[in-house]
Amino acid sequence: MRDRYPEFFSSAPLRDIACLPGWLDLIDELCGTLKTYLKAHPEVPQVRARQVKEKFGELRFYYSGGDAVCRELVARAEERSMSICEVCGQAGTLGGEHWLSVRCLDHFNWSPSGDCA
Ligand SMILES: [Zn+2]
Repeated sequence: MRDRYPEFFSSAPLRDIACLPGWLDLIDELCGTLKTYLKAHPEVPQVRARQVKEKFGELRFYYSGGDAVCRELVARAEERSMSICEVCGQAGTLGGEHWLSVRCLDHFNWSPSGDCA
């Protein structure tokens, strides 16, 4: 992800992204859309991701730069993350007994391995 979108991720400590494999497509799509938009609107400040992580089961994409349109695009992606299994990318629901996270039926009880917990 960092290699594909160096303009977004060059300055960010982003190991967190690797912990959310099911959301990579969503993040990829978001970055692609942002990139296209920024290219068409060179006057808009470059978007730079500062942190991408899960918070209360929802994708959080923290960044600087951008404008109202970028905010809208990010908000839409964050909203969509609430119905995408964070493990595999299938349709999922927000739930879980011990923590809030979005999981499909296959991964309902799946636990992240040490590094990513
Ligand atoms: Zn899943």
